[in-house]
Amino acid sequence: MAKQSTKKSAGKASGKSTAKGQQAAGEVHAFQAEMQQLLNIIIHSLYSEREIFLRELISNASDALNRLRFNMITDAKVRDKDAALEIVLAADTEGKTLTVSDSGIGMTQQELIDHLGTIAKSGTLDFVKELSSADPSQRMDLIGQFGVGFYSVFMVAKRVVVDTCPADPSQPAWQWSSEGAGEYQLAPSQRTARGTSVRVEFKEECEEFCSPARIEQIVKKYSNFVPHPVMMEDRRLNAQDAIWIQSKSEVNEEQYQEFYKFLTHDFENPLHSIHLSIDAPVQYRAVLFIPPQLSNEVLYSPTGFGLQLYAAKVMIQNESQDLLPLYLRFFRGVVDTEDLPLNVSREMVQRNPLLAKLSSSLAGRVIRELQSLAKTDPERYATFWKQYGKVLKEGITSDPANQERLLELARFNSSQFPAEDELTTLHDYVSRMRDGQKEILYFNGPSREAIERNPHLEFFKKNGMEVLYLYDHVDNFIMAQLHEFEGKVFASIDQSNLEAFKEEGATPPNHEQALPEEELQEVLKYLQDTLGERVASVNASKRLVDSPACLVNPDDMPGNVQKMMRMLDKNYTGIAKILEVNPAHPLIRHMSSIHKSHRDSPLLKELAEQILDNCLLVEGLIERPEQMVERIQSLMTRAAENQTKSGT
Ligand code: ADP
Ligand code: MG
Repeated sequence: MAKQSTKKSAGKASGKSTAKGQQAAGEVHAFQAEMQQLLNIIIHSLYSEREIFLRELISNASDALNRLRFNMITDAKVRDKDAALEIVLAADTEGKTLTVSDSGIGMTQQELIDHLGTIAKSGTLDFVKELSSADPSQRMDLIGQFGVGFYSVFMVAKRVVVDTCPADPSQPAWQWSSEGAGEYQLAPSQRTARGTSVRVEFKEECEEFCSPARIEQIVKKYSNFVPHPVMMEDRRLNAQDAIWIQSKSEVNEEQYQEFYKFLTHDFENPLHSIHLSIDAPVQYRAVLFIPPQLSNEVLYSPTGFGLQLYAAKVMIQNESQDLLPLYLRFFRGVVDTEDLPLNVSREMVQRNPLLAKLSSSLAGRVIRELQSLAKTDPERYATFWKQYGKVLKEGITSDPANQERLLELARFNSSQFPAEDELTTLHDYVSRMRDGQKEILYFNGPSREAIERNPHLEFFKKNGMEVLYLYDHVDNFIMAQLHEFEGKVFASIDQSNLEAFKEEGATPPNHEQALPEEELQEVLKYLQDTLGERVASVNASKRLVDSPACLVNPDDMPGNVQKMMRMLDKNYTGIAKILEVNPAHPLIRHMSSIHKSHRDSPLLKELAEQILDNCLLVEGLIERPEQMVERIQSLMTRAAENQTKSGT
C-alpha cells in the first residue's frame, strides 16, 4: 500500500503500491532494488554520452503525443481537446534547469509508480551492466541499439521533477520527484493542462545543457525527425515535414541518412534507401532503409523487426510486422497510408484487408528497387547480397509470385571463378552454358575447398562445365524445390543420371585406360555382392577422373533433400546410394587382376570395404570410424611388411 507519511518509508512501498487516489502530500517510495542498481551504473559510468538524456526525454514526449493522438480518434472524453500537440523546451540558465513539456497522454498515479519506479523491460539491467564495461568507443553503438530510457536523465540531473496530468479527465494530476538515490516522492500536482513536464535540475558540472545553443545542437543531432514540433522560445527546432511526405527530389542523401539514424539510433549510414510514393492500388508513401549490418536479431528472432505504420501522419504501430513478407524483414522505415480508416483499433489493423493489398504492393516495389540497384550499382548490390542474401533467399520458396524475380536477384559463387567472393547471376551462368547443355549444375558443400576436392566435380572440371557452388544450409531446401530458370532445369551434380553425361564430346576423360567391359562387369558384380544392401547398385562411372569411386544419389532422392532430412531428423539414416566406380583407376584395375587369380582373397574384400568407407567419409556420412581405422591400420602394416620383404 502507498504510504501516507511524509517520512521515509523505504522498503515497504517499493513498486507494489496501489493508487487509490489518496491526496496525501509527499509520499515517499523506494525504487525497486534492480532499479537502484541501474541508476548507480548509469550515473557513475556513462559520462561521455550524457547528452542523450535529451533524446530520451523528447522521444518519451513524442510517444506520449502519438498515443494521445491515437486515443483521440476513438475516445471522446479527452482533457484539453484543442491543445496543440507539441513538445516545448524551456531552459533556465540561472536556475540551471531545463523543462521538457508535452501535451501528450500523461500518466495516472499508478502509471507513475509502474513506469518511473520499476524496470519494465526485462534485460535492461543486464544491458546497462554490459554497457558500463564496454569500450567507450563502442558505447554509443550499444546505447543506440537499446535506448536507455527515462533514467538516463540522472546522468545530468541532481533532481528531477515530473508533473503529469492524464488525458482522462477523471484522473487527477500527480507530481513525481527524485534525486535518483534510492527513492522518489509522489504528491498531488498543481498542473491542470493535459500532458507531462519533466524538469531537470542540473548537476554543477552539467550546466552546459541549459544553454539554448547546446540544446538546439542536441535536438538537431538526435531528434530532428520527431513527428511533432519541438519548440524553444516559440521557435521550431526540428525539421518541419515528415520526410516521407516530401517528394523524392526534395530530399537529399544526407537527409535520408539523418532520418535513418534518427529512426534506428544507428550511428552508421544505411546501406541503401528507398523512397516510394504510390497511388494505386493503395495510396501510400514509404521511406525504407537497408541497415549497414544484418543483425542477429533480425536473422534469428521472430520479433524485433518491423516498419512504422502511420495513417495520415498518425502513428498506428511502431513495429508492424505485416507490411513486408518475412524475407524482407531486414528493412527499417516508415509507411504512411491515407487509405487506412483511422478509427480502427491497433489490434484490428492487422486484419484490415487494405493492409494485405498494401503489403503485396510494397513487396513488389521493394523487389523492383533491388533489381534496379543491382543494375545501376552492382558493387553496392554485391555488398548487400553478401549480408542479406541468406534472408532474401527465403523468399524464393516462400513467395511463388515473386520467385522468378528473386531468382534473378540471387548471386552464386561457381567453379568459373578463382575466389569465393566472386559471384554470378543465374542469367549469366545460362549465357555461359555450353551449346546443348540442358542443366544448371550445382553442388552444395560447407566450403569452396570441400566442394572442389569432392570427386563429383572431376568430370565437370575436365569438360569445362561450370558448376554453381552453394554454401548455405537453406540452399539444399531451396534448390530441391526449383524446377527451371530460363528453360533450364536445376540439377545437383551428385545425381545419378545427368543429361550432362550424355552430351556430345563429354566422354569420361581417360576411357582409353578403362578395363575391358567383361572384366569391369566382374569387378562391379564382386563389389555388389560384397557390399550388399549398403549400396543401391554398383555402376561404372562416367564422371570420375582421379578417384576410384564415389557415391551418387538415385534420381528420385537428390542428395540435398537427404541432407535436409538429416538436419530435421537426427535419426534419419537416408537411403542406400549408388556406388559409381572409375573403370580406368589403377586400384580398380588391380582389383580386377586379383579377382581373376584369387577371387577369395581377404585383401580383395578389405579393398571393397575401404572403397565404400572412403566414399562415405568424403560425404560426411561415416558411421563407425573405429572399424575403418582398424582396417586401414591392417592394410598399412601389410604394405610395410611387403616393402620390408622386397628389401627396398
Ligand atoms: P520506454 O520509453 O522505452 O518505454 P522509458 O524509460 O523512456 O522507456 O519510459 C518509461 C515509461 O514511462 C514510458 O513507457 C511511458 O509509459 C512513461 N513515460 C515516460 N515519459 C512520459 C511522458 N512524457 N508522457 C507519458 N508517459 C511517459
Ligand atoms: Mg523512452
